[in-house]
Amino acid sequence: MSRIIGIDLGTTNTVVAFLDSGCPVIVPNAEGGRLTPSVVAFTDGGVVTGSEALRNAGVNPEETIASVKRRMGTSHRFHLRGGIYTPQEISGMILQKVAGDAGTYLGERIDKAVITVPAYFNNEQREATREAGVMAGLEVVRIINEPTAAALAYGLDKEEIHTVLVWDLGGGTFDVSILELGQGVFEVRAVSGDTRLGGDDWDQRLAGHLAGMIETETGIDPFLDKSAVPILKRIAEGAKKTLSDALLSDIDIPLGFRGEGNFAGRNVRARLSREEFEALTAPLLKRLAGPTIQALSDAGLRPIDIDRVILVGGATRMPAVRELARQMFGDSKICHDRINPDEVVAAGAAIQGGILAGEFSDLVLVDVTPLSLGIETQGGVFARIIDRNTRIPVSRNKIFTTAADDQASVSIHVLQGEKDAVSDNMSLGIFDLADIPPAPQGEPKIEVTFNIDVNGILRVSAVDLHTGNEQKIEVAPLHPSASIE
Ligand code: AMP
Repeated sequence: MSRIIGIDLGTTNTVVAFLDSGCPVIVPNAEGGRLTPSVVAFTDGGVVTGSEALRNAGVNPEETIASVKRRMGTSHRFHLRGGIYTPQEISGMILQKVAGDAGTYLGERIDKAVITVPAYFNNEQREATREAGVMAGLEVVRIINEPTAAALAYGLDKEEIHTVLVWDLGGGTFDVSILELGQGVFEVRAVSGDTRLGGDDWDQRLAGHLAGMIETETGIDPFLDKSAVPILKRIAEGAKKTLSDALLSDIDIPLGFRGEGNFAGRNVRARLSREEFEALTAPLLKRLAGPTIQALSDAGLRPIDIDRVILVGGATRMPAVRELARQMFGDSKICHDRINPDEVVAAGAAIQGGILAGEFSDLVLVDVTPLSLGIETQGGVFARIIDRNTRIPVSRNKIFTTAADDQASVSIHVLQGEKDAVSDNMSLGIFDLADIPPAPQGEPKIEVTFNIDVNGILRVSAVDLHTGNEQKIEVAPLHPSASIE
C-alpha cells in the first residue's frame, strides 16, 4: 500500500507529517518551514501559496486569501483577477502545495492523505475538505477530528488506560475532547467547543486596542485605511507571541500604511505588558471554561478524573491558557512539552494514516458524533434516533407512522440538538415520503434510518415498509451555537 500522509489543514497553518518506522515525522515545505501558512495570493506572477502568499498580505491584502477554513462548506465565492473560486478550490491550492512539497521531500508521488477537521465541522465542511483534497490530486482516505488526532499522537506509546482531555485552541476554533485511551483503542467520550473562538480573536482584540492608541495620538482611526487592518493584526499577533515568552513587548506601529498620508514615516510606539494583554483578553480566556465543563458533564467525569490534559494549537502557548488549564486540572496533568502543539494534530493524522495502511495491526480509532440527531414527531416533539457521543460509524433506525387516517405523505424533518422541543433544536433538512397507500392512522410503518459514516457524514432515509418506497437525503449536522461568554 502506498504511503498515506497526515495533513492538518489549519486556519492559520497547514502541517504535514508522515510515518517513519512507525513514528510521526513532520515534513518540511520547500522553504524549509515546518508550518506552511494557509494563505493563497493572486499576484502578477501567478498564484502563490504559503509564506510567499503571507508576505503578499501586507502589500496586497485584497488579493490575498487567509483563514479560508472559516469559509469551508459555505456558498462564499472569492472573486479574484477575473476568476471565481470556491473555498475548497482555495484550500485545494494549499493542499497541492504541501502535498507537492512532501512528494519532493520524500522523493515519491503523494496521492493519499488523512486530513483533519475540527470536531464540530458539519457535513458540508467535511465534504468541502474532501473536495479540496481531490482538487489537489489526493485521495482523502479519511477525515478525522483534530483533537482525536492529537490524542492519537500522545497515546500511542501508553500502555495503561488514560482519560485524556484535549484542549485545541487554534487560529480560529476551540475544541474540547475527552478520550479514553487503552488497550489499543482510542475512544472519544465527549466533544464540545466553540467554533468562533481562536488565537485570531486575541489578535483582533489587541489590534483594536492598538487602533485606539493610534487614534488617541493622531486623531485618526487607522481602520479607515483598509490596508491597515492586516498590518495591525500582524503586529498584534507578533506582540501576542512575544508575550508568551516575555513579560513585556515593545510595539512599533508605522503610520501611513501605504506610505501615503500625513503620517508617512511616523511611528507610534508602545510597551505592552503581559498583564495588560491578559486583562485586555480576559473575556476571551473565560470562554474556554464553558465548553470544557460541558464536555466533562457529558462524559460523566469530574476534573479529578482526567489523567492527562493535552494542549494543542499554537494559541495554547499563551501562558494564561496554560494557567487556566493548571487551575482547572492541576499542574501535573498538563502535557505539552513532548510534541509541539502546532504539530501534534498532523502527527496524529499520520498515525491514523499508518493505521489505515495496516502499519499498526493492534490499533483502532473510535470516534463519536457530537450532538444527538433525530426527527420531528407530532406536537413538535424531537425524537432522538442517535444520541450524542455515540460511537461512529453508526446506523440506527426507528419505525414511525401516520398521524391521520389516509395520510398520503409524511415529512421527515431532521434535527440536531439536545432539547425535547423541536423549535429549540437545529433543523438540518426536511424531505417528504409520499404515495403512502390509504390506511387508518397508525397503521403504515415508516422506517427512518440514520447513518453516520466514519467521516462523520450523516445520511437519512425513510422507507414505507409496506410498499418499499424510499426517500433519502444527505444532511449537514451543524455545530452547536457558539457557547458561553
Ligand atoms: P494553529 O491553528 O494551531 O496553527 O494555531 C495558530 C494560532 O496560534 C494563531 O492564532 C497564532 O497566532 C497562535 N500562536 C502561535 N504561536 C503562538 C505563541 N507563541 N503564543 C501565542 N499564540 C501563538
